[in-house]
Amino acid sequence: MKIEIDTHTHTLVSGHAYNTLREMAHMAADKGLKGLAITEHAPKMPGSTGLYYFQNLRVVPREMYGIQLFLGVELNIMDEEGTIDLPERVVKDLDISIASIHTPCFAGERTKETITNAYVNTMKQNCVDIIGHPDDGRFPVDYDKLVKTAKETGTLLEVNNTSLSPKGFRQNTKDNVKEMLEYCKKYKAMVVLGTDAHVDVSIAEYQYAGEILREMDFPEDLIANTSLEKFRCCLKRNCNA
Ligand SMILES: [Zn+2]
Ligand SMILES: [Zn+2]
Repeated sequence: MKIEIDTHTHTLVSGHAYNTLREMAHMAADKGLKGLAITEHAPKMPGSTGLYYFQNLRVVPREMYGIQLFLGVELNIMDEEGTIDLPERVVKDLDISIASIHTPCFAGERTKETITNAYVNTMKQNCVDIIGHPDDGRFPVDYDKLVKTAKETGTLLEVNNTSLSPKGFRQNTKDNVKEMLEYCKKYKAMVVLGTDAHVDVSIAEYQYAGEILREMDFPEDLIANTSLEKFRCCLKRNCNA
């Protein structure tokens, strides 16, 4: 299985990542990718950047070292209503958006019902393309409902390699990802593989995610980022255009 674009990475701008945009693009080219998404943490993540950074991304070239760049954001899902931490008009102007739940940002109870509602309400927003790492046992999810809504709304679900790493801090991720993928098979819902790289060497490293997909014999046609063109078409913002 070939993955042409890494859909989830961070640079120095996110505050707890370690390379520049140019270094990340260079590494992506070295590793033979055709595309790279750079998805900085949105403003409510402590230490990340502000609104103007995202508004000004239009000045950055979308091709570097022969790599197509998708410049975007990893939004914070703030509450059960699916509130995100950038205005919709700003997110719409980016190339890609992921929305994720992060411990320092999510206000509200962590029951299965609350968290599932948070994801469902987030996926109903047209500016949200991908749900990032919905695999963390600290935020329990009704996977049947999550995947069904992802399919209905055309939102991609992420299989996050960092979550599955033995060094990862998210909980019970392997079992949760397997459950999610079973429902993805059932409902024919699309997933993306993202590394969530916070350092250049982690780009395009899918060891743990790949292992699970192989183990489950997961159909390749349900993986959105096996080709750059396929991925572009699978983004909600491009489907609705
Ligand atoms: Zn991060
Ligand atoms: Zn995240």
